[in-house]
Amino acid sequence: MSLSLSAEKPAVPDDADDGVWLECIECGETFPPFEDVRYTCDECGGLLEVRYADLPTFEDFDGQGVWRYAAALPLEAGVTTQEGATPLYEVPRLEESVGVEALRIKHEGMNPTGSFKDRGMTVGVAVAKELGVDRLACASTGNTSAALAAYGSRGGMETLVLLPAGKVAAGKIAQASLHGARILEVDGNFDACLDIVQELAAGGEAYLLNSLNPFRLEGQKTIGLEILEGFLADYDAVPDRIVLPVGNAGNTSALYKAFRELVQAGELEESEVPKLTGVQAEGAAPMVEAIENGADEVRRWDEVETRATAIRIGNPVNAPKALPGIRETGGTAIAVSDEEITDAQRDLAREGIGVEPASAASVAGLRKLRAEGVVDDDERVACLTTGHLLKDPDAAAAAGHDPEPVPAETEGVLEHLQS
Ligand SMILES: *Cc1c(COP(=O)(O)O)cnc(C)c1O
Ligand SMILES: [Zn+2]
Repeated sequence: MSLSLSAEKPAVPDDADDGVWLECIECGETFPPFEDVRYTCDECGGLLEVRYADLPTFEDFDGQGVWRYAAALPLEAGVTTQEGATPLYEVPRLEESVGVEALRIKHEGMNPTGSFKDRGMTVGVAVAKELGVDRLACASTGNTSAALAAYGSRGGMETLVLLPAGKVAAGKIAQASLHGARILEVDGNFDACLDIVQELAAGGEAYLLNSLNPFRLEGQKTIGLEILEGFLADYDAVPDRIVLPVGNAGNTSALYKAFRELVQAGELEESEVPKLTGVQAEGAAPMVEAIENGADEVRRWDEVETRATAIRIGNPVNAPKALPGIRETGGTAIAVSDEEITDAQRDLAREGIGVEPASAASVAGLRKLRAEGVVDDDERVACLTTGHLLKDPDAAAAAGHDPEPVPAETEGVLEHLQS
């Protein structure tokens, strides 16, 4: 199987352009990368992956941010606002209370628009330019629309975003709006938005930049590469486990691909690859269900609900790439309640790290897996926090405590403080 960790380096097909091509993960059909617009396999409808004749080594990486990893990407440069190079925070108190050897927080909320989606867009929008399209579109729980709007504007292209009405956090709509996207509020959930935008894209209305687009995942591989380099610098070893929130499972797929490519390049032992551990909200956990049941496919959940709106997704499109990633690395998946998510959001806030609810799912999941004994106390773990606190100010205010009204004079303020 092409997605196995021990897969051989693929043979280079005639379709390759400068050593880059697209390959179907289901039937192996290959396609040229930049000749025409294509999101899935013409032959079987399977998901596509970007493949390379030359796989990079750590020595090939140079510079800062996503484009430090150009040797692992399909283009040399992108439409950029200096995304990537996010902090890998130490969290000593949280590390002790969870009870692991080392815990680090890779805070993707520190990207230019406040989520990891920027890493995918810097590559995806550059590919759109290469293809010569002029209108970009996505369905979004919010962050993809913010990133698409910003990167599309910067690239001088029109942008169209489809959002589930009433289910997108305020900060994200504000970003899409100010960066100039046309915002269509759909009377339905995210999965319905994605169905529609896929049909619009198939009809040639716009270029699709959801994580179904294989080029976006190339940019998101750099999260994994940064985590590995960070751990190698600080511990002289890669992490035992990476815990991440799962929505459409794009990051799970992207990190797995980054590690597979390092194994193929001889840079990483198969046994060293971090255990990919996915976390979903209880009200939207189709991936967890598939992992628990040992299923090869994910059952679509038609009804989904969670406070973590960024992962309120019932039909994770990248499941065929992500399920092998979780299984082949010896990882697992777990569901957490909204209360556990909010508690984890507060835990992170106490360490000075502000995240939106979906992001805190990783820490909530790690705590639960540690309590269940699935995660050992001698593990070194990285938790991914995917988006910034200010993305969802309402959730932050609800998880925090209320301001206290005081009179406009010092005496009154002192009295209040003493009461
Ligand atoms: C998009 C998003 C996710 C989900 O990521 P996938 O790669 O689709 O699994 C999680 N958290 C936040 C904040 C997001 O914006
Ligand atoms: Zn195919």
